Amino acid sequence: MKGRPAAPVRPHAIAVIGGATAGAEVAARLAANGARVAVFEMNPRPYGKVEDGLPRWHHALRRKEFEGIVGKLSHPGVHFVPLTKVGRDVALEDLTERWGFSAVVLACGAWRDRPLPIEGADRFVGRGLVYQNPFIVWFNHAGERDYAGPRFVIEDDVIIVGGGLASIDVAKAHMLECTRAALAKRGIDSTVLDLEVGGIPKFLARHGLGFEELGIRPCTLYYRRRIEDMPLMEAPEGADAIRLAKVEAGRRKILEKAIEKYFFRVEPLAAPDGLVVENDRLIGLRFRRMRVDAGDRNRLVPTDETFERRGRYVVSSIGSIPEPIPGLPMKGELLAFDDWDLGRIAALPTLFGAGNVVTGKGNIVASRKHAQHVTQAMVEAFLGLAPEGHAGEEGILEATLSQGRQAAEAVAAHVATLEPPAPLALERLLERVKERQRAVGFGGSVAVWIHDHTPPDFE
Ligand SMILES: Cc1cc2nc3c(=O)[nH]c(=O)nc-3n(C[C@H](O)[C@H](O)[C@H](O)COP(=O)(O)OP(=O)(O)OC[C@H]3O[C@@H](n4cnc5c(N)ncnc54)[C@H](O)[C@@H]3O)c2cc1C
Repeated sequence: MKGRPAAPVRPHAIAVIGGATAGAEVAARLAANGARVAVFEMNPRPYGKVEDGLPRWHHALRRKEFEGIVGKLSHPGVHFVPLTKVGRDVALEDLTERWGFSAVVLACGAWRDRPLPIEGADRFVGRGLVYQNPFIVWFNHAGERDYAGPRFVIEDDVIIVGGGLASIDVAKAHMLECTRAALAKRGIDSTVLDLEVGGIPKFLARHGLGFEELGIRPCTLYYRRRIEDMPLMEAPEGADAIRLAKVEAGRRKILEKAIEKYFFRVEPLAAPDGLVVENDRLIGLRFRRMRVDAGDRNRLVPTDETFERRGRYVVSSIGSIPEPIPGLPMKGELLAFDDWDLGRIAALPTLFGAGNVVTGKGNIVASRKHAQHVTQAMVEAFLGLAPEGHAGEEGILEATLSQGRQAAEAVAAHVATLEPPAPLALERLLERVKERQRAVGFGGSVAVWIHDHTPPDFE
């Protein structure tokens, strides 16, 4: 006897805020699980930090991840809603309460620079103080005719405050551009890629030149901890002294290789402490010498010694924090997550977080857990220090992707306990999503949209 066919499982509807590495991963996984997923992305292209945070010489990684994101957002259950900023074009409450989504995933990254921790510093933005996020956005789009954002001029002898991977990329950008300019003065043409891939010494050797002959005063990266503490590699949880020493040696080795190839300088144990201002322009910083507590290597102790350093300008590259969205509770500069692992806030029970929005500054435990996926080989590939160049650098995104997978599983488990929206309610919800797609001119194909919204001179 034939049984009656099982009633089709009604789908849940889930909203994702941010369509880049984390958001696209979550969306595709939930859609593959049968959900209908609306992805709200504020920019025309959903590439996030991969387009605007990783300098453009990460050419292969960018192309690969761009394709990956487009593929994931093209999944039949995913409804891509570009040019839609949650908090401006759509209210957060629309997604958490009014439209009828079963869950909302925050995957909006971390786009605000952590402020340089010196009273009054931000008065000098545009007058000697540069923040990393707008700097890299410009660096990546500088060659585009229609680029409309803030512009910068790269000079030598610059102060960079930082210590993480992103600050090394900022130092590299300075050294590569200064070298290019010095070579151009000698009538030698070079591209950033020519210099980045093999390293500056190799390129110069081909022209019978040494770096000192170029007359460039290298930029200096000031870091408040020791070189061995740089957050370039994570120590596994519960690592013993031998393992820790290996990780520390690995960090030093990575940095030494980077200096050999790109000639920037590093001054460790120096924390920004005051501004050096002349003619209402920031021309340097006062630093405080730090030391590491002998009994507890994680404890940093300020000393009485201060010293002044001058430079052409100061770049602050000390981390990115999430932009506030009206309706999202904040605690200081961070989102007020109650569960940092899954990005959950008790007052918003349908909300989950994934990617940089939760692994930004302050979330040491979750960052560590996911950063275990990142090995020394990947970091060396990312920084262009491996013998094979950048091959394998895509591993650097594995931490974010693993978070996306974890968030998708948590959301799926959560919505499994809820009643899916009734068919009519789902229809109404999807109609609201389509209405917004029509308002921004999105015709239904992510690939066509991307084609139409990529400048012809986009690198
Ligand atoms: C130099 C450098 C080194 C890095 N190294 C590592 C590493 O070692 N390990 C690691 O995990 N990560 C690393 N990262 C970060 C890496 O780039 C990220 O892990 C990953 O790209 C972040 O992806 P995401 O999707 O979380 O955030 P993003 O790429 O920032 O994407 C967020 C998206 O949300 C959109 N958005 C923001 N606000 C809104 C809103 N209100 N409404 C709608 N859309 C919104 C943005 O436009 C963006 O497209 C590094 C980054 C840099 C720059």
